[in-house]
Amino acid sequence: MTPITQSIPALEQLVDRFGRRLHYLRLSITDLCNLRCRYCMPPQGIEKLPQDMVLTLEELARVSRVAVGLGVDKIRLTGGEPLLRKGLPRLLDELKSLTPRPDLRITTNGILLAQKLPELAAGGVSTVNVSLDSLKPEIYARITGLGDPAGREALAKVWGGIQAALAQPGLQVKLNVVLLGGINEDEIVDFARLTLEHPVAVRFIEYMPVGRNTPFQPEHFLAAEQVLQRIRALGAVEPLAQRPGDGPAQRLRLAGAPGELGIISALSSHFCATCNRIRLSSEGQVVPCLLSDTAVELKPLLRGGADDAALARALLEAARLKPQNHHQGVLSPHAAGCQMSRLGG
Ligand code: SAM
Ligand code: SF4
Repeated sequence: MTPITQSIPALEQLVDRFGRRLHYLRLSITDLCNLRCRYCMPPQGIEKLPQDMVLTLEELARVSRVAVGLGVDKIRLTGGEPLLRKGLPRLLDELKSLTPRPDLRITTNGILLAQKLPELAAGGVSTVNVSLDSLKPEIYARITGLGDPAGREALAKVWGGIQAALAQPGLQVKLNVVLLGGINEDEIVDFARLTLEHPVAVRFIEYMPVGRNTPFQPEHFLAAEQVLQRIRALGAVEPLAQRPGDGPAQRLRLAGAPGELGIISALSSHFCATCNRIRLSSEGQVVPCLLSDTAVELKPLLRGGADDAALARALLEAARLKPQNHHQGVLSPHAAGCQMSRLGG
């Protein structure tokens, strides 16, 4: 990768019209995935993007550098499945050498985690979020579309990856559990119990209507609030204070637990007022809100000889377009046009 030397004057910050500072960039680094989670992708998958449609590692690093110049201090790699992206160590090397150095995080389905952990550690990743919606092989196989025995084998790999990540010094590990009424809701207590045994953050996330390829199924929506009622069965639950830069999770701890719980209620209670995120899709669209259709195209600039100041202006424009609130509801979902696996969750 060519070393990046050009820089932009640090004049402006990504602040939207409502005064929210957007300092958290989520980069979708690939549209490819080795799973077909029922809420994210259709069973047959989605058409793979032609290679030249996907941003190169250099382009991803360049946009990140410009964004860091505009005040971004946290970058999450996502996808698709980010651990499938060839050249990930090179990208991490570029990102960790940005000034000021951003906090680097990754969200993965965990299948390749044990194998790729040394690369993540060498690349300066501080936090790994592993998406895992069931601890039961048959349910995991059903949710991920793998069937049996592939689902059983995959779950064992994911669990091995989680154990390896927990043993990695200095690495924070979080589990993301999408709540699916009638499918995994009886596992809330089992997931919560993991926080009594391991220093892991288990976060329960509401199922959202995203992506036109996967019609929202309201019958599987489970409001995050119901989680609390169930985990109280395990004992006293204490609220934890929000830390600066914390995301939308309401943080809790079971008495005496080394780990913690998080509840993320995107639909039942909007946390838009504190949203600090901006996203870059694998095709180079800057998307200011996951649940709305607005996007600013960066690829024509990146490939048309635009300088960094022009890229910065495009990012500032995307920030300006961020809506105050999303208007998604459970009863009137309007699936945002994005495909989650190209945009990243
Ligand atoms: N493949 C990686 C993974 O699954 O962790 C990263 C990309 S995935 C799109 C990022 C996150 O989005 C995952 O935690 C996934 O569970 C979440 N997600 C995808 N579709 C969703 C939906 N309809 N509602 C809620 N979360 C969703
Ligand atoms: Fe599942 Fe993530 Fe792949 Fe979507 S991108 S199908 S959530 S593993």
